[in-house]
Order: sequence, then structure tokens, then C-alpha cells
Amino acid sequence: MDALGVTGNPSSVHGEGRNARRILEDARETLAVRFGTRPERVVFTSGATEANAFALHALRGARRLIIGATEHDSIRAHARDGTVLRVDRHGVAEMDALESLLGQGPALAALMLANNETGTLQPIGEAAALCRRYGAVLHVDAVQAAGRLPVDLGALGAHSLALSSHKSGGPLGAGALLLSSDAPAERPLIEGGGQERGWRGGTPALPAIAGFAAAVAAAVDADRLATLRDAIEKAAMGQGAIVCGAGAERLANTTCLALPGVRADAQVIALDLEGIAVSAGAACSSGKVTASHVLTAMGLGALAGQAIRVSLPWNAEADCVEAFSTAYERMAARLRPALAGAAAGA
Ligand code: PLP
Repeated sequence: MDALGVTGNPSSVHGEGRNARRILEDARETLAVRFGTRPERVVFTSGATEANAFALHALRGARRLIIGATEHDSIRAHARDGTVLRVDRHGVAEMDALESLLGQGPALAALMLANNETGTLQPIGEAAALCRRYGAVLHVDAVQAAGRLPVDLGALGAHSLALSSHKSGGPLGAGALLLSSDAPAERPLIEGGGQERGWRGGTPALPAIAGFAAAVAAAVDADRLATLRDAIEKAAMGQGAIVCGAGAERLANTTCLALPGVRADAQVIALDLEGIAVSAGAACSSGKVTASHVLTAMGLGALAGQAIRVSLPWNAEADCVEAFSTAYERMAARLRPALAGAAAGA
């Protein structure tokens, strides 16, 4: 809120500009400390889509691109000439497959820390050690894990991390790419007025960046949400739901519930009418009714079009379990007879 009242541009030398610059550098320091890199290796962006694009552009060089099969579309969009790394049925990337791909020559691998649809965690430490052994570079999309789990670029051993303010509880419109001290970053994605040490041209969105840092500083581990998530899963399974990725280590706040035979978009609409906000697949693409590429990669077949993603906010309390369970039961009761009727008529 304080930053909203600052009218200076952080690049200006006058007092107002210096005030703005101080807020910007404090935010940079907050992210550097929290996520394990040096402040001068934090580059603010408009969000994680840009941070991912920036990483793949800056770190690519002559390297082959390897991307996890369940990556977010902001990574997949760059993978037309890349190789897809397969995942197992829980959504965990296969490390032996990664190793054999790394053995084929210099590579840039992109793997997410936590999946946005299922919450499945990837073995990033192991992937980073493999990448380093083969002289490869590893970019990690840490959007969903940041603010929910301890995330430290140095400890993970990766070369870069993409973050998004609004996934950590901050305002929309800010993100960051964090680079390790040995990341072989070569060229900026956006050239311009030399902001962000020449790494990202354009006036930084100061209020959003300040809010991003404030949210990061205030973030608490999401572990306590596991109890609520488990209760939600139990209620949904009582209605016939299948928890996707249940066999993997997962984020405590996210669950992906497939209801066999009931289209995901119908579930989303029915739950919305009950006052429950969930999404089918990735929220940013929930306008389209396509099967989730994440669940398809996990080999879930038709269930990939019948699953909703439920994420609990940091401040969720026990009463959300009852609200969700009641709504889910009513949704299942409403949609299943229609399904049975359609099948009988067919
Ligand atoms: N990566 C993951 C895993 C995400 O979940 C998202 C957004 O949902 C993004 C990247 C894109 O982030 P942004 O909306 O900040 O561009």
C-alpha cells in the first residue's frame, strides 16, 4: 500500500526516484534471501510466463531443450523443437529417462518444482545433480511451490527459478527470474532502457513488485493445509472420485479430483453454482474444454477430461471442508443421474 503512493520512477535520480529505487531494491533483497540467491541475480518480470520465456531464451545457447511432460503451457509453448521428458502415473518425471537424454549432448532442461494441477513435486535436487554431472543447465518453474514450501535455489542446485507474485498471495502483474551465480545467461528477452541491470528493459511495476515481496515475506508453510486437503479428498472419494497423483509427494494445498464419467467443465459450473471456485485443468486455460495434458501424460485416459483442480488458500480453515463436501456431494448427485440417463438413452 505504501508503494502505491510513490510516484517516482526507480530509474530517476531525484528524491522521488530514489524512494522508488529503495522499495525496488528492498523487494529484490527479500526475494534473494527467501529463495537463496544474490540480489543482483533477481530480475523482476511481469509474471512467471515472462520469467519462463526469459529463462529459456537466455539460457538456451546451442543447447537442446528437454521439458517435463507436465510443465505449464508457458514452458510448453517454447518446446516445439524440444524433447519431452516422460512422467510416471503419479506425474513424477523419470530420472533414468532424463539421464539418457542428458547423455545425448549439451542440454537445457526445464522442470517444475510443483505441478499446478495435481500438486505433484518433482525430484529437483536429483535432476539438478544429474544436469550438473552432464554439464547441462536446469531451469525450474517454482511458481506453485514458492510461499508454500521452503524453496532455495542454491540448495536445489538448479540454475534458475521462475516465480509469480499472485501465486504467492501478492498482486497480479509481477514475477521474477532468479539466476544462480553460475547460470550461463547470455541475452535479455526484452531489451530497452537498461533496467534490471540490462536484463529486462521497461519500467518495473513498483506497486506489484512491493506487494510481491510483502507476500513472500509473510508467507507461511502450507503444511497445515494437508489435513484439510485430506478431508476434502476423503469426502470426494466417498462420491466415487479418484485423486490424481495421490501416490506422489505433493503440495499440501492442491488436489486433483477426477469424477469418472462427468465432464470437468460441468463439475466446475455445478460447483460454482454452489459457491465453490475450482478449475478444470490449468486456471489460465479453463476457457477451453480440452483434456488436461498433465493427466494425459500420467496415462489417465478419459479421466483427463473429468478432473477438477482444487486449491486451498493459505488462510483456509476447517469450515471449508464441510462447505466443499456438501457442494461436491450435491454436484455429484446432480450430474450422475444425467449421465446414467444419457447412457440408458444411447
Ligand atoms: N507456471 C505455473 C506452474 C503456473 O501455475 C502459472 C500460472 O498459473 C504460470 C507458470 C504462469 O504464471 P503467470 O500467470 O505469472 O504468468
